Amino acid sequence: MGQPRSYDAIVIGSGPNGLASAIELARAGRSVIVYEAEETIGGGARSAELTLPGFVHDICSAVHPLAVASPFFRRLPLAAHGLEWIHPPAPLAHPFDDGTVAMLERSIEHTSETLGGDAGAYRKLMTPLAASWKQLAPALLGPMRWPQHPFALAHFGIRALRSACGLTERVFKGERARALFAGLAAHSMLPLEQMVTAAFGLVLGITGHQVGWPVPRGGSQRIADALASYLRSLGGEIVTGARVESVEELPPSRAVLCDVTPRQLLRLAGQRLPDGYRRKLARYRYGPAAFKMDWALDGPIPWKAADCARAATVHLGGTLDEVAASERAPSKGEHAEKPFVLLAQPSLFDPTRAPAGKHTAWAYCHVPNGSTFDMTERIENQIERFAPGFCGRMLARKVTPPTGLERYNANLVGGDINGGAQDIRQLFLRPTVRLYATPAKGLYICSSSTPPGGGVHGMCGHFAARAALRSALR
Ligand SMILES: Cc1cc2nc3c(=O)[nH]c(=O)nc-3n(C[C@H](O)[C@H](O)[C@H](O)COP(=O)(O)OP(=O)(O)OC[C@H]3O[C@@H](n4cnc5c(N)ncnc54)[C@H](O)[C@@H]3O)c2cc1C
Repeated sequence: MGQPRSYDAIVIGSGPNGLASAIELARAGRSVIVYEAEETIGGGARSAELTLPGFVHDICSAVHPLAVASPFFRRLPLAAHGLEWIHPPAPLAHPFDDGTVAMLERSIEHTSETLGGDAGAYRKLMTPLAASWKQLAPALLGPMRWPQHPFALAHFGIRALRSACGLTERVFKGERARALFAGLAAHSMLPLEQMVTAAFGLVLGITGHQVGWPVPRGGSQRIADALASYLRSLGGEIVTGARVESVEELPPSRAVLCDVTPRQLLRLAGQRLPDGYRRKLARYRYGPAAFKMDWALDGPIPWKAADCARAATVHLGGTLDEVAASERAPSKGEHAEKPFVLLAQPSLFDPTRAPAGKHTAWAYCHVPNGSTFDMTERIENQIERFAPGFCGRMLARKVTPPTGLERYNANLVGGDINGGAQDIRQLFLRPTVRLYATPAKGLYICSSSTPPGGGVHGMCGHFAARAALRSALR
């Protein structure tokens, strides 16, 4: 790689987890270099002018409850390195056809006021869980360990292990709360009848109340830039445009941490791994894909329900039944006629994203892994359904199907945005029971294919670095 010297550790990939692991190592006094395949750093935390000059779009992640909840990121001086969080008045809006909207507000009380007859049931479900968030967060945003707060975790676990459909149908009587919860749980990218999908709904709901769903001023790239700036201040190095084809080509080091998914790890280091472990990596399952769209708009989205403009994130999918049908489709190799659409409108709260008076929008829906089906019309129809006139505001659009996502970032295998399916078998023991370590001496995996999985939180990188510091880098 043209680097003559040796390092304590080399990190392959500069996604949030790669940068997090490099920071953890540098903070422990180890010399570290990061090799990034692309010309810009950040992996799933990058932004660019995808449509027109002056319109800054988030290429992957846009909204960041997990980053502000991350026990690791919270300890880093990222504000001093340029990261500024913008909190919209409400974390999330979930509109209905009748022009009303269920809101996830910062306050449980205000959220419940938008849920009709289920106000009391929502308060009863969320109040104790939100109150124990400080105890729950370290357990939920990390690998399975003996819990420090077993009662809080048990209270959460009994509800979280259920399917989202099972939990909502038992707890809520009306459509509004059921639909709001279904939208939250749909971030799992699993059929909502599957066990453990309730966990995603609960965690995202609680983060809405406890930490908010902010966007970074200037775009998600600023998260990566702040992490990189802090890493450099600790003496860490980053080289871009440096795709690693094999670990054999790297300069000497005591540890290599790979911010890649199992399929790529096999290519990078397969020859160092025993057959049994290789077979396990080859059996690792990838999940559904995202079909992603970005728009440059002539004005704000003309929502039927005005409150939608108070949130950076809007879930478009109507009722629980509709959301559930949409999330079942990819697992059957099908494409939902009315897809559940996750939409973000950061420019409403961050004027740096678009020229004055203009706006950006970001959205995706879930499709089968590797799908080549064009969802453009179906996504735009869903937006028009809740915001008539949306298409009339369009100045330009950029469509990124699953293949485009993978071309942009090799970790997005078949368009899977979570580094592998997050069902009950792979949520806790990913990519294998060894988690971050591999059988090869000094070789680690630190991407979202390890616990706690997808999202910009850096916890996978943090725990992988801790594993390396306990053994290869002791
Ligand atoms: C469309 C989309 C929307 C999303 N929305 C959100 C959201 O709103 N909020 C949220 O929290 N999360 C979101 N995510 C998920 C989030 O982006 C990822 O979970 C997160 O980025 C994973 O971080 P990572 O470091 O594990 O991997 P990545 O961010 O994927 O980074 C991996 C890096 O490794 C590099 N790399 C790969 N192979 C090599 C190689 N051989 N040599 C050198 N470098 C290599 C890649 O180029 C990349 O930079 C979204 C993802 C997508 C795609």
